[in-house]
Amino acid sequence: APALHVPEWDDVAGWWPRLGPDSEKYTRGVVGISTGSATYPGAAVLSVGGAVAGPTGMIRYAGSAAAQVLQHYPSVIATDRVANAGRVQAWVCGSGLGGGEAAATELRSVLATPLPAVLDADALTLLVDGAMADQLRDRVAPIVITPHDREFARLAGEAPGGDRVGAALKLAAWMRATVLLKGDRTVVATPDGRAFANPTGTPVLATGGTGDVLAGLLGSLLAAGLPPERAALAAAYLHGLAGQEAARQGPVTASEVAAALRAVVPV
Ligand code: AMP
Ligand code: MG
Repeated sequence: APALHVPEWDDVAGWWPRLGPDSEKYTRGVVGISTGSATYPGAAVLSVGGAVAGPTGMIRYAGSAAAQVLQHYPSVIATDRVANAGRVQAWVCGSGLGGGEAAATELRSVLATPLPAVLDADALTLLVDGAMADQLRDRVAPIVITPHDREFARLAGEAPGGDRVGAALKLAAWMRATVLLKGDRTVVATPDGRAFANPTGTPVLATGGTGDVLAGLLGSLLAAGLPPERAALAAAYLHGLAGQEAARQGPVTASEVAAALRAVVPV
């Protein structure tokens, strides 16, 4: 079995892009968010809520929950679809997108870009379609997929089982993507066979919407230029820490995890 690396705060803080006198909003990176729908506008708000805690200077939202996103985050630039978004350096796609043809079109648009991308939730369900999975495997730019156990089982054809590290490595190699397998001690596996275990977190995070927040932060880190495994590890580490912080005041909602994130990131 390969060595299982466990990142520490100093690793994450070292990877986090620092601000300085020369910082400029565009050079900090622009993250594109393709999440949410008329049915699930909250997923858009939560994924943007994760992205605003990240290092990028700009957020573009592309989807049909723009009104709700702008109500919470007026600094976001919104448009109706991925194909109409301006300059972006990494995409987050999937949470609350729904499973219809409109959602599939958005995912295809994201996969057609030469940019790093995080695929989560409904995007993972759409990937079970063979043609979509082929488009993903042909891609050069890095992909991070963020399944929980049930999403993993749909993608891999079987549940992760007892050997979560081995299962994540196998899926990463097959999909040619970095896999962030969520749960207690989230696992990150790379397509070239490296594996990591996240040391932070709390079962309090087992509540609706926290995964959307994680995906947004991860996308911001990719847009800021972190390599996929560092972006995945830093996002998981800080998201777990935010959960622990937020849980000190009792049960949490995903919005509170997003708010706590802004207080725990290295900056
Ligand atoms: P999602 O299912 O997409 O909303 O994501 C759930 C988030 O909560 C992920 O970041 C998981 O790692 C985290 N989570 C879920 N259950 C647990 C658990 N029992 N212990 C620690 N973290 C958890
Ligand atoms: Mg989820």
